[in-house]
Amino acid sequence: MKQAEKHTSNVLNLSQNALTVLQKRYLKRNEEGKVVETPEELFRRVASFVAQADSLYGKTVEEIKQVEEEFYELMTTLSFLPNSPTLMNAKRRLGQLSACFVLPVDDSMESIFDAVKYAAIIHKSGGGTGFSFSRLRPKGDVVGSTKGISSGPISFMTVFDTATEAVKQGGTRRGANMGMLRVDHPDILEFITCKDNNYKLNNFNISVGLTEAFMRAVEEDSEYDLINPRTKKISGRLRAREVFEKIVNQAWKNGEPGIVFLDRINASNPTPMLGEIESTNPCGEQPLMPYESCNLGSINLAKMVRDSNVDWHKLKETIWKAVHFLDNVIDMNKYPLKLIDEMTKANRKIGLGVMGWADMLIQLRIPYNSERAIKLAEEVMGFIQSEGRLASSALAEERGVFPNYEHSIYNGEMPVRNATVTTIAPTGSLSIIAGCSSGIEPLFAVSFVRNVMEGTKLIEVNPYFEAEAKNRGLWSRELMERIADRGSLAHFDEIPDDMKKVFVTAHDITPTDHIRMQAAFQKYVDNAVSKTVNFPYQATTKDVEDVYMLAYKLGCKGVTVYRDGSREEQVLSTSKKA
Ligand code: ADP
Repeated sequence: MKQAEKHTSNVLNLSQNALTVLQKRYLKRNEEGKVVETPEELFRRVASFVAQADSLYGKTVEEIKQVEEEFYELMTTLSFLPNSPTLMNAKRRLGQLSACFVLPVDDSMESIFDAVKYAAIIHKSGGGTGFSFSRLRPKGDVVGSTKGISSGPISFMTVFDTATEAVKQGGTRRGANMGMLRVDHPDILEFITCKDNNYKLNNFNISVGLTEAFMRAVEEDSEYDLINPRTKKISGRLRAREVFEKIVNQAWKNGEPGIVFLDRINASNPTPMLGEIESTNPCGEQPLMPYESCNLGSINLAKMVRDSNVDWHKLKETIWKAVHFLDNVIDMNKYPLKLIDEMTKANRKIGLGVMGWADMLIQLRIPYNSERAIKLAEEVMGFIQSEGRLASSALAEERGVFPNYEHSIYNGEMPVRNATVTTIAPTGSLSIIAGCSSGIEPLFAVSFVRNVMEGTKLIEVNPYFEAEAKNRGLWSRELMERIADRGSLAHFDEIPDDMKKVFVTAHDITPTDHIRMQAAFQKYVDNAVSKTVNFPYQATTKDVEDVYMLAYKLGCKGVTVYRDGSREEQVLSTSKKA
């Protein structure tokens, strides 16, 4: 860093990686592009801004100051962090604080290009957008006004992709999109392979929306109907298993498309009277109605351990403060569009989740792939869901229920301020800032290389592993380097078995264990869970298929798989393949 830039003090004990990420993307810069903010100043900026919402509810200046201190402490102790846009944009010109948006795409030129424009505005502010393209008439269908033929949803997706590429988000982050298509759309086969050769769609994650009717047809090995969304008429039939296999093969090949169980998502839609949920945000953890946005935040479970036990008292306090924080964000947010402002404030969805789950397990010496871990996952998330709802209910007493409450599943049950409270985000950047394992993922490796942005690579050794290796007299630079080469400890005779079990990595864990963990969390999450099921390079398409069926059976809302080495550029990689 150049001398003239603000010296980044490190009283917060942030890791070098955290400082690098903060400097590159989060800290305020002046007109010459120099960093003019320390991490403490960033957290102060966010805390003071978000606390201001309390003034809308009759709080005094002193009370607001106290709330600000609470929020500041939540973040500076790395116990809780709000999603990236809140950290980046609070009290700044853009002022857009949410990570997740869903925009409708109707079957008209006006609607399609409105959505392109709205997405560009959202991307500029660091938010991600999800779209369902299921309402668009299929390729080759008639176009009334011109008597021509339609180019179909996949062709229009390339327009969104190109627009996203062009926006580049003023140096903070490049846009991210979710593109979804229902399995009964006539263009489904083209969609499944759309990222393969003809279309690049690099700025899209794609997912197929699976229906219950489709899943039944897979189980019975029967055909199912394709429906033209323009005419609402059956336009053909396909054998469900063939389509399912095609999805599986493609996911095996390059990790996409993911699958989403649409009817299941709608079965837990808190406001079904207002319409259907058609899409999620880019990483799949947040189903939303058209024009809804949601701000997420994550509790760092690594910090919720005391004397080798879960610190339930601290966890409870953190949950209550975090719900207060996220509800405030809804009021302080500057929305990119009036419709989004209205929709978001009518449902007031928030998404409180966790990161550092693997770190918590390590501290408790519970292997990630064990029954105890599954049981604790249910206990911890069950606690967060019920305390989160209580906190939302307490806010409702004070601030009122969300405006659409009467049209929600909560009506008459329990007053709540927020239509949803819990979501498990990937915490890709947040976990680097907090220095913890990401989301509910197992350790990716005991030591690995991380590609943060184009050209920047960070080497990381798990701090718990380093400490324990030193304690037990196992540490040597040479051994750490060899471990970094392999990622996993599985083949190191010099590492004792108990350590191998506790420091288990994503690739030591079977895909079944990955899904079981996802399902355990999903049981107690209002929205959805972001999780990648890692497969070894040698995995077969049958392995992927089995995991999809298991996810369906266990109540997951969607699945994302990744087979090691199947894509050229990975975000996380061990320096050599194990
Ligand atoms: P973070 O750690 O930066 O807060 P996450 O990795 O938890 O973000 O992702 C949460 C959500 O944020 C994603 O599902 C997506 O909606 C949005 N998001 C993540 N990365 C991007 C990006 N590069 N551009 C736009 N939105 C993004």
